[in-house]
Amino acid sequence: MSDYFTEMGWSPLSDGEAPNHLIDMARFLRDFGMWDLVGQDTELPPPASKDAVANLPEIKIESNENKQCPVCLKEFEIGNKAKSMPCQHVFHQECIIPWLEKTNSCPLCRYELPTDDEDYEMYRKEKKRAVEREKDLESLHNSMFM
Ligand SMILES: [Zn+2]
Ligand SMILES: [Zn+2]
Repeated sequence: MSDYFTEMGWSPLSDGEAPNHLIDMARFLRDFGMWDLVGQDTELPPPASKDAVANLPEIKIESNENKQCPVCLKEFEIGNKAKSMPCQHVFHQECIIPWLEKTNSCPLCRYELPTDDEDYEMYRKEKKRAVEREKDLESLHNSMFM
């Protein structure tokens, strides 16, 4: 059990320290497989972290082969600067920055940038673990039945 907490970056409570109810809640939801019911599609994820936004690479538009900014639907002009997301989608800086100040995902493909929101990052980590666990179960199943 202690390995698990270390891995998650949680330290055990010291004397007199109150438990963090959010984490208790998170564990409860995880144990009952309810992560997917929480917040999903009802609420936007939190804003992208300021660092992630500041570090988005800036590219120069070299040619306008059918390139449109997905936010404002205007074509990029050659020689203009644009911001490139890690998913390779390209946006006007003035279009993507306000977006990322509201939510952390690419408007086109929902690729997620890191956030400054600890609870959300924990939620994401848990989701990833759940997916990996699923994959493990699948391969276990396959190795047993194929
Ligand atoms: Zn635009
Ligand atoms: Zn994208």
